[in-house]
Amino acid sequence: MILKKLNALLTKRDKQVLLLLLIFSIFISIVETISVSIIMPFISLAGDFSKIHSNRYSEYIYDKLGFTSEANFVIAFGILLIVYYIARSVLNLYYFYALARFSQGRYHLIAYRLFENYVAMPYRKFIDKNSSELNKTILSEALNLTTLISSILFIMSEIFIVVFIYALLWFVDWRITVALTLLLITIALLMTQTISKYIEKVGLNRSEFQSKFYEIINQTFGNFKMLKLRGDEERVKKEFLNASYGFAKTNIIHQTLQHTPRLMLEAMAFSIVTAIVVYLVYKNNHDISSAFGILSMFVLGLYRLMPSVNRILSNYNNIKFYKNSLDIVHNDLMYEIEDLGDEEIDFNEKIEVRNLSFEYIEGKKILKNINLTIKKGSKTAFRGESGSGKSTLVDIIIGLYRPQKGEVRVDDTILNENNIKSWRRKIGYIPQQIYLIDGTVAQNITMGEPLDKNRAIKALKQANIWDFLQKHHQGLDTFVGEGGVKLSGGQKQRVAIARALYTDPEILVLDEATSALDNETESKIMDEIYKVSKDKTLIIIAHRLSTLKGC
Ligand code: ATP
Ligand code: MG
Repeated sequence: MILKKLNALLTKRDKQVLLLLLIFSIFISIVETISVSIIMPFISLAGDFSKIHSNRYSEYIYDKLGFTSEANFVIAFGILLIVYYIARSVLNLYYFYALARFSQGRYHLIAYRLFENYVAMPYRKFIDKNSSELNKTILSEALNLTTLISSILFIMSEIFIVVFIYALLWFVDWRITVALTLLLITIALLMTQTISKYIEKVGLNRSEFQSKFYEIINQTFGNFKMLKLRGDEERVKKEFLNASYGFAKTNIIHQTLQHTPRLMLEAMAFSIVTAIVVYLVYKNNHDISSAFGILSMFVLGLYRLMPSVNRILSNYNNIKFYKNSLDIVHNDLMYEIEDLGDEEIDFNEKIEVRNLSFEYIEGKKILKNINLTIKKGSKTAFRGESGSGKSTLVDIIIGLYRPQKGEVRVDDTILNENNIKSWRRKIGYIPQQIYLIDGTVAQNITMGEPLDKNRAIKALKQANIWDFLQKHHQGLDTFVGEGGVKLSGGQKQRVAIARALYTDPEILVLDEATSALDNETESKIMDEIYKVSKDKTLIIIAHRLSTLKGC
């Protein structure tokens, strides 16, 4: 299940790199196994020079390389070993670098793909989402996923080491190896059935607490004014404390239990070695000098085996702890995204709404069987009580929502995925809720496009705010604050109007765009808007009749 989901997340190149890493890890395991097994012969040769000649291999090398003294042979062997161990460390370091590079390198890729997917999410889908969840997925879950990936990689490499060392132990004494295997398997089963399951559950809690965490932060700083006014600081602080403590607690549990495999293994390993010694002494009723070689081999094998088995088990627990992150990321990457075509759409005559019905929630129709025609160049207004569906209807016309029934036609083309992008580009939109980015007026008007100063100033003049910006602030370079907090409501609306006018759109849509303005300013702006939209199509939602006098 985990592998299947990962498989879906990784690209073809990722998998190729993975294969290389796998080969590298087999190589590393061989190096590791040699490093474990080679120290014993060295010590035994150094301890007894006669062994150099009694062993076929050492005798062969001794003769072949033309050694004349045993001491020199052992010294040469020793130097070779030193070089080998240093090389081994360097190689291991490089290997860990390659692992880290792969797993951590996935972070930016996965984070980017998440971001890409969120951006491509249809608006209809987006409004059902909680933006702190999206934050959390990109910032935390994607990072956790890389931990999970590196855990899998570590397990992969350790498994080979374990297999090779096992083979070595088997070669030394298969009976002890079988006994060891049984015990290891018992411990592994014990672990996975109890502690790992618990860790998985704690991992779920982690994700919940973290969601809460992000949510409280966003809510608090997003609605600071209300918080201050209500004097709600204590409640918010308490909620934050609960979430942060809960989150910390899951990490405490995870980190503590992280050590259980090692402790269980150590207890077991020391007991086994002791038991073997006791057994041999008991069986032979003698000291065990004859079994010393085998025993030390075994201790050394265990010494190298234990950390590996430990890493396998604790990384397994890691995977369990972060499994939820994989589920979340996988789920969010599998979202339905908008795949919009680049077909051009012509608008020469009219927009037609036919038999259109729309509902946000199934069975609760907001719009029912709407039919209307908006001629090109006409000025059309919608009025009606709050909540009656004006914004919704306009959002459908500008192509943000798709109707469940009926259609919107431009000239005689039905709006669909293929042409909606081109349609949206023709529209200048001033929303009911204005959001200004934390930057300058110029940045807010261009929205990332290159700045054309004259056009920007012209738009600001039309929106009746240029004089103010020039007189009291730094003109185009005036900072508006996050969300536009440094401007008044009406000034914000006027910047938003300038933003819409800047692109010189064919169709201008105002959703209560002037509701925050006083009568005088409003009528000035509306005059301007009617003037600039002489040849444009204008769609207005407004309550004041005076706003609608030109429609
Ligand atoms: P106002 O004059 O107050 O701006 P409106 O006519 O523009 O009102 P809409 O914003 O179109 O009204 O909303 C129409 C109805 O749809 C409302 O009853 C609202 O509760 C509901 N609604 C709006 N957005 C959603 C949503 N995302 N999910 C569910 N219901 C929604
Ligand atoms: Mg509205």
